[in-house]
Amino acid sequence: MSDEQAIEIKERKTICLRYDHLLLQNILIRDEAELMQVVPNNINFNTKIQYRCKCGSLNIKTISAMFKLGCVCKKCILPIKMSKKEATSLERYGVKSTASLESNKIKRKETCMAKYGVDNASKCQEIKDKISQYMIKRHAAQRAALNPICENTKK
Ligand SMILES: [Zn+2]
Repeated sequence: MSDEQAIEIKERKTICLRYDHLLLQNILIRDEAELMQVVPNNINFNTKIQYRCKCGSLNIKTISAMFKLGCVCKKCILPIKMSKKEATSLERYGVKSTASLESNKIKRKETCMAKYGVDNASKCQEIKDKISQYMIKRHAAQRAALNPICENTKK
């Protein structure tokens, strides 16, 4: 995408966004996507467009979703989402994931202590029993390793 196109898209976003053919074209160029249908003359933010993601998979999105979230498929958006999440977390808390914050670890333990009387849910007898019941109901064995089917797969 050229700088002009980037500015065009940015200006449209900040001033007044018109979901027209020009914007659609710019979005497709921005995300290296390919249009897979004939676009009707009258389009708006809610017009669904079929496109091919740069990975090759076919998708349908509204033009506003294409603009805001990008012309990518569910698979391709995952790394983008994750990096955005990590960037936000790094900016706000200085760590990639808030789960690794010491204060959150303490809070998790406190919550578990208050709810179950132990610092980790896997130490709670009530939860152990629930897991056992589920395993018996679903797999006919208290633990997966005791299931005859699993026994046969052991080396
Ligand atoms: Zn893709």
